[in-house]
Amino acid sequence: MRLIVQKFGGTSVADQERRNMVVNKIEFAKKKDYYPVVVVSAIGRSGDPYATDTLINLAKSVGIEPNPREMDLLMSCGEVISCVVLANTLKKMGYECKVLTGGQAGIITDENYGDAEVLKVEPSNILDCIEKNIIPIIAGFQGMTEEGNITTLGRGGSDVTASIIGEAINAEIIEIYTDVDGVMTADPAIVPDAQVMSTIFYNEIFQMAEYGAKVIHPRAVEIAMRSNIPLLIKSTLTENTGTLITNYDKSRRYRYDKNDQLITAIAQIGNRTQFRISFDGSADQYEKDTLLFNIIAAENISIDMINIYSDLKIFIVDSINGSKLENILKSQGYNFTAIPNCTKVTIIGNKMRGMPGVMAKMIEGLSESNIDILQTSDSHTTISCLIKSENTNAAVNALHKKFELGKTK
Ligand code: ADP
Ligand code: MG
Repeated sequence: MRLIVQKFGGTSVADQERRNMVVNKIEFAKKKDYYPVVVVSAIGRSGDPYATDTLINLAKSVGIEPNPREMDLLMSCGEVISCVVLANTLKKMGYECKVLTGGQAGIITDENYGDAEVLKVEPSNILDCIEKNIIPIIAGFQGMTEEGNITTLGRGGSDVTASIIGEAINAEIIEIYTDVDGVMTADPAIVPDAQVMSTIFYNEIFQMAEYGAKVIHPRAVEIAMRSNIPLLIKSTLTENTGTLITNYDKSRRYRYDKNDQLITAIAQIGNRTQFRISFDGSADQYEKDTLLFNIIAAENISIDMINIYSDLKIFIVDSINGSKLENILKSQGYNFTAIPNCTKVTIIGNKMRGMPGVMAKMIEGLSESNIDILQTSDSHTTISCLIKSENTNAAVNALHKKFELGKTK
């Protein structure tokens, strides 16, 4: 049997008109002889009555810090509501279907509430539905511990649900339906001229996701990649073909097409705070220097863009941890400055590996728009620049133009 996982994001199930479009996509898969296994997110976005953020705010409005186990219980409701409404829509059209929570779908996680990791999937309930010709409608973003506690998988976790289920039932393909036509050369909310890519490799979309392109969760890419199941990202609202994500084509591994772009895409991640910690070389300072990274690690704060010099250490953190880290460094007597409201802008492309001049072109693109670069970092296939967040739109658009990712390519 040809199994397909179809995941529908929050905006795709936001109102009845869109839910009817979702039904069209499910019907289309059936017409093509696929057996659909459906995963859905909570209805709508922040502010909508049943959206995850709305539920969080409701619980917090009481004025005490909510318990993580109970927060997950609450947050898991959004997807359940969405599933039941979509199931009713399908039933009205004459399809038999059955709603499953993450736990009922067999997703077993650890106890890390709010950001739980999937330990295993026992898909017997899903397979049972398929055998009886009933479409399973699975609540995304959630799982269950061995003890039966409901957990959630972190922001964008419904994508992870889709991939982990696709892997467990050995689906032929995993479709991620969203509100844009596919993976684009930059966030279309920032770059009006961003172009949809017809294909992209797993490692490139993984990096895009890791560096802030929220069109798919990086973990979902990782899971699909390890089981070599193609991912197709497309719009619920149009008939466009979307972006197919696959493995390297072996014949292209060493030789690139002359039409290949040096850069595949640009991503950005905001809400970063840069820390610059200086040392004068005295005995007391020497001890502080050697302890610094242990202190940060002990607080479970993850750091990024790390530059180490004998008299200066520079790195960035998620601004959520900014003031906590400031207080710790202050109390330990470190000499530092913290620069909040920074954004990390990254260019990504397999072809830049070993190519000279990419960094120069990036810096040139930014300086032509008078954008200051606070820091840089790079890997074989990425280069990131840290800038002030107020320059994000200008920077991403400038780089998109500089690397000719728009229509004129
Ligand atoms: P869903 O609710 O369907 O999961 P998300 O909001 O999580 O949707 O992801 C879709 C959004 O991702 C788009 O509306 C778009 O603004 C954003 N996005 C960021 N970078 C990209 C990119 N490179 N290509 C496409 N979309 C992107
Ligand atoms: Mg998403």
